[in-house]
Amino acid sequence: MADNGPTPALSLRDAEEIVRRLMPALREHGAWIHAIHTMLICRTAPADEDLEPGAHLRSDLGRWFREEPNEHIRRHPEYTAAAEHHRRVHDVARNLCEAVRDGAKITPADYQAFIQAVGRLDKSMELLAKELWDLLRYFDPLTGMSTRFAMLPRLKQERERARRTGYPCSICMVDLDLFKSINDTYGHQAGDAVLEAVSAYFLRKLRKYDHIYRYGGEEFVVVLPDTRPDAARPVVERLRKGLARLAIQIPGGPQLRMSASFGIAPLAPDRSVGDSIEHADAAMYAAKEAGRNQVRVWRQ
Ligand code: GH3
Ligand code: MG
Ligand code: MG
Repeated sequence: MADNGPTPALSLRDAEEIVRRLMPALREHGAWIHAIHTMLICRTAPADEDLEPGAHLRSDLGRWFREEPNEHIRRHPEYTAAAEHHRRVHDVARNLCEAVRDGAKITPADYQAFIQAVGRLDKSMELLAKELWDLLRYFDPLTGMSTRFAMLPRLKQERERARRTGYPCSICMVDLDLFKSINDTYGHQAGDAVLEAVSAYFLRKLRKYDHIYRYGGEEFVVVLPDTRPDAARPVVERLRKGLARLAIQIPGGPQLRMSASFGIAPLAPDRSVGDSIEHADAAMYAAKEAGRNQVRVWRQ
């Protein structure tokens, strides 16, 4: 079975749930910071709860830090850092609240400490949000494959390794044949079912050190490390033949067969990754022109 890149840290649904729980807490926290500023500028009476030790635990954001059920995000180093910054924001705010309550002077340094603590918390929360955002970009929910956004850094890494060590690497562009006719004949949901079945087939059949990505609608890219194009060819031929034999059941419809055209090119160490992808694409088009359901290797 293929190693489909790094295992996603969270499922798409997990990420959505986390965002749903976190957003109201962040909004509330923003409103609270606003209220602290109002108190400082207008010298209004501080809220009783902001004077109590452990105020951070009682805020919505504090509750999120305490109660967020997702283990993965709880173990994330930035989560621990953000929780600590959040506690610090409330500790500094308590000092300011006490000064206002007691009619004491607030120095620019006291105020600066509050601003800095808020800034650190914001930065931490941004990093956590980026983690969730990357997950949405890097993971295709329909097929369970990594996306082209995850592919590009991987290809750059493989290209660098090829340049450093001289080990070859091949890439293969895969495009399903006459896929549009499935949508046109049986509907878009049937098309989705075919994409799911084909993706599952590829993930099952690739060698464990190869990687596959959903490049676009019905296009995939296979990365075959340590493999020259002539050695990649029989590997890809096996995939092609197996796919053409695969019976795909569409919901409430007949069993279908699906073939694909494959274009192999080396991941050239002295060219850009984009150039190598274009070469694989050109080979794939040559396979289409030759009648589809074929494998072609790019030649200079
Ligand atoms: P060819 O053999 O020349 O590649 O023909 P084709 O019909 O596969 O090529 P074309 O590029 O014309 O059609 C691709 C179709 O894939 C068009 C688009 O509607 C469909 N498609 C892209 N993404 C999805 C998707 O996520 N789900 C479904 N159901 N269809 C999709
Ligand atoms: Mg296409
Ligand atoms: Mg196609």
